[in-house]
Amino acid sequence: MSKPLIIDSGEFAREGLSLNGEIALRDLQRVLGSVQSDAGVIRYALQGGVDKLQRRYLRLSVTGEVSLLCQRCMLPFAFAIDGDSLLTLFDNEIDIDAASEQDETLEGILASREQSVVDLIEDEILLALPLAPKHEVCAPDGNSDSVAKKPNPFAVLQQLKVNKQADPD
Ligand SMILES: [Zn+2]
Repeated sequence: MSKPLIIDSGEFAREGLSLNGEIALRDLQRVLGSVQSDAGVIRYALQGGVDKLQRRYLRLSVTGEVSLLCQRCMLPFAFAIDGDSLLTLFDNEIDIDAASEQDETLEGILASREQSVVDLIEDEILLALPLAPKHEVCAPDGNSDSVAKKPNPFAVLQQLKVNKQADPD
């Protein structure tokens, strides 16, 4: 069971509060339609604050791994989620529009006394997902075993160590 994560976003920002934790992927209903498996957790960190223009904001970062289906070889693969957004809070849509005209990179949302943190996390993950997910390099024979044949960086390090020790200096 997951407890609902609801904040008063305006107050959260004004008070400079922070919140972080983990949420099971299966509790992120809007994300489930885009991933291959509901196993795993997403870690999140939410930080409130007030910017130089005295605007309240929420900074949200999410990290974790989801399983996506490669559109080239049709095999699932692990995709690393690493999202970080600055959400500036406004009291009405007109102010969001005006601020967005001044600053095209601005992400404005309405301040809410009952802001669902899960909603924000879902939005952040959906933004981070590629439209057409693909392996960087698909397994040549369509056999996912060949993914495991990639050189293991630790094995390479180990080899370097051994060489060093063998060096008669
Ligand atoms: Zn592939």
